[in-house]
Amino acid sequence: MSELHPDLARVILSEEEIQERVKELAAQISADYADAERIYLIGILKGAFIFLADLCRHLTIPHIVDFMSVSSYGRSGAVSGAVRLMLDLREPIRDEHVIIVEDIVDTGHTLDYINHTLQGREPTSMRTCALLEKKRESLEVPVDYLGFTIPDFWVVGYGLDYADTHRTLPFVAELKPEAYQ
Ligand code: 5GP
Repeated sequence: MSELHPDLARVILSEEEIQERVKELAAQISADYADAERIYLIGILKGAFIFLADLCRHLTIPHIVDFMSVSSYGRSGAVSGAVRLMLDLREPIRDEHVIIVEDIVDTGHTLDYINHTLQGREPTSMRTCALLEKKRESLEVPVDYLGFTIPDFWVVGYGLDYADTHRTLPFVAELKPEAYQ
């Protein structure tokens, strides 16, 4: 592998590990919804776009892909602020089997907000899928399909960014604290 960028401390999840796990998640989702007419995957921009692109191409059941974007305010350190909807879905999700696809769950505020917002639109069912979850105190937001649990530090790559950099790395790496403090 080529040299790691100087802002990165170490690779946490290799490209191979991620691809293997994404295939497993897709197989699990495909089996769980084998009897459904179709499922509705909702990717949360921007972080989930690479994960969702890989996940949906391994699904063996009919599916629709759409995106939402939210932003958090007042986030500083461990405290996550209010979440605001920036970009909404194009179509109603009423009577659909919905899976929300997130990059990472940290405090759980984002997923909780999206969960509540979309529940009101009366989908037939709603589940959540996240590539990563941080090991720490967080809201009790259930993640039905989880890729990996990681330690509580800032990670980049595979869709995750720092100030819009490192997003398209094929692996997930820890950002050195001095790079963002
Ligand atoms: P939560 O609302 O669960 O605290 O935060 C979720 C959102 O914060 C994620 O969707 C992601 O955008 C951002 N986030 C949390 N931790 C990280 C991290 O370690 N790296 C990156 N790039 N984004 C993170």
